[in-house]
Amino acid sequence: MKIGISEIFLSLQGEGKYIGTPHVFVRLAGCHIRCRWCDTDFSLKETLSCEDLLGRIKELYHPGCWISFTGGEPLLQAEELSCFLPSLKERKWPVYLETNGILAGPLKKVIDCVDVIAMDIKLPSSAGQGPFWKEHEEFLRAASAKEVFVKTVITPETSDDEFNRAVDLIARRSPEITLCLQPEHSGLFKGALEKCRALQRMAALRLKDVRVIPQVHKLMLIP
Ligand code: SF4
Repeated sequence: MKIGISEIFLSLQGEGKYIGTPHVFVRLAGCHIRCRWCDTDFSLKETLSCEDLLGRIKELYHPGCWISFTGGEPLLQAEELSCFLPSLKERKWPVYLETNGILAGPLKKVIDCVDVIAMDIKLPSSAGQGPFWKEHEEFLRAASAKEVFVKTVITPETSDDEFNRAVDLIARRSPEITLCLQPEHSGLFKGALEKCRALQRMAALRLKDVRVIPQVHKLMLIP
């Protein structure tokens, strides 16, 4: 079985709760949605067998690394991942899944071999499409079998109503789930920090851990 790859590289995690930790990033090719702000090249560059993919990861791995599956949307290749991930589990290498949080069915195929799930909630005004409330709710229910946290991109268009709906969705599952607010474009839009702080205060009424975290890898000028 071949896996469609866009790129593989070693770097530091630049988003969310695990920021600063070393990761071998495996960017899988393809995505089924088109977010308005997306600047990721997830085009198909190569297809690798499970054996070849493991070899490429081994070349980059060092103790303390996570193996991060990102995209694009990695769960579009859940079938292929379900064949590959047990080889990482055998080595006790921690697996991190970064996903748009929409595909609950495919998640169930791989979740046994995943340690941490970083899921997005795509707010309709920010993503420019959706809503995906039902999909996100179903996804979060399935993801709660493992450690999961939520990221959501905040833009000048983010409304209080849609943000509150996202907070409700998380709080109904568990107020313990961390929510990371990620200002679009490293927080460079005018008033980003003030807007994120106001939303953080609002969310903190129902969630215990709400963080404002820009994309730090862009500030560090690393991939
Ligand atoms: S889900 Fe991720 S990769 Fe796909 S379009 Fe949105 S931001 Fe880009």
